[in-house]
Amino acid sequence: MHGPGLRTLAPAKINLALHVTGRRTDGYHLIDTLVTFAEAGDALELKPAVLDSFTVSGRYGGDVPIDGDNLVLKARDLLRRRFGVVATRPVSIRLVKNLPVASGIGGGSSDAAALLRGLDAMLGIDAGPEALGRIGLELGADLPMCVAGQPLTARGIGDETDPVAPWPQLPIVLANPGVAVATPDVFAQLTRRDGTALPPLPERRDVAAVLAWLAATRNDLEPPAIALAPAISEALAALDANGARFSRMSGSGATCFGVFETMAAADTAARAIGAAQPGWFVAATQTRGTTP
Ligand code: ATP
Repeated sequence: MHGPGLRTLAPAKINLALHVTGRRTDGYHLIDTLVTFAEAGDALELKPAVLDSFTVSGRYGGDVPIDGDNLVLKARDLLRRRFGVVATRPVSIRLVKNLPVASGIGGGSSDAAALLRGLDAMLGIDAGPEALGRIGLELGADLPMCVAGQPLTARGIGDETDPVAPWPQLPIVLANPGVAVATPDVFAQLTRRDGTALPPLPERRDVAAVLAWLAATRNDLEPPAIALAPAISEALAALDANGARFSRMSGSGATCFGVFETMAAADTAARAIGAAQPGWFVAATQTRGTTP
């Protein structure tokens, strides 16, 4: 009677490289980052309903607000303010919070982006990803990239995005040592804010060429985050010891990723790390790629 609902993934956002290139006079940092998204993430279920409702479950469900402070509800209300009647039809929202909170993989922004795209489709608003990304900016600089959900570079405060194609899928393991690091604290610890821009993307885009390119880049937030949360080094060491060809922290941490040769190798490493560190968040997954 209320029409079909939909279930959608709010994928983990992975900053494969992140250079801090400056700081605006208003205090926001300028960045140059290469981002992709994983097949692992939070799940969002939307259904037309008689009354609005919002429930949160999942391993990390207890760590997020369940009231209007939740970015999912902020995104719903933003859409309602922008689109009026069509967007105000009551909706039941279920969030399964699988990703650790405040962990550098954009959980909140990705949830909000999934809500915007999901309601846009379910309610027939049809604004499309570009308009939704611009509208979402009000909720955070990461919203446009999360709405796009594909490999991209982002500059400015992270809001100026350009799709990257082609880009290979990468088997990865995510490892978070169970410490939450607040993004503003990490930026406050930065000693260098004048870092160089990312080097030009590699001509060849196979995994070997991408790994060579990554080795010539940085995450400038990694040293200050490690200073705040030394356990991040342990996560990187665990990925390396279990066969990662490359490892790095994502965003402002503390989640780290390791790139593996195959999905089978990633699965084996994730099982070993998870068994040794039951309190950590560990997941083997694949990142999204793009074809030309
Ligand atoms: P980024 O990679 O963009 O730095 P993050 O992983 O560090 O993101 P989030 O997981 O997005 O950070 O959470 C940041 C803050 O947002 C937390 O303090 C949390 O309480 C709040 N928050 C509100 N709604 C959500 C949500 N749905 N999921 C996660 N955090 C949320």
